[in-house]
Amino acid sequence: MSSTDITITPTEWEIMRMVWAEQTITSPKILELSSNLFDWKSSTVKTLIGRLIEKGYLNKDTTVRPMLLSPAISEEEANYSRIDEKVSQMCTKDRGALITHLIENNELSIDEIEEMIHFLKEKKQTAPKTVTCLCPVGQCSCHIN
Ligand SMILES: [Zn+2]
Repeated sequence: MSSTDITITPTEWEIMRMVWAEQTITSPKILELSSNLFDWKSSTVKTLIGRLIEKGYLNKDTTVRPMLLSPAISEEEANYSRIDEKVSQMCTKDRGALITHLIENNELSIDEIEEMIHFLKEKKQTAPKTVTCLCPVGQCSCHIN
């Protein structure tokens, strides 16, 4: 599965977070956690679990009772895919400002900042003077004079 193919709805995402947190989890445990966190019916939770299995995001081990669920995709992979999808819907010229916005609005450790500085210095060596718009005409304001 390519990372851009990941489609997880917001409610399914809540289930995935429980599975990512525990790595292996039973559906009774998911039901218990859900009842503490959300106002969902148990049938809703069961439907969500079934859908995630069907979509291939959850593995089920039915050799044990109750069956064990585990993630078929990593949390990192799913998060990156979500962000990449959003970014791909923006003009390439607007992406730098978005990254700056994220840096401004999120707490970062010294190590993370050092890593970013290192990466930016490296990126600067081959960076173009201006970013080229790759949008088709009509999809951004770059083509309007
Ligand atoms: Zn553009």
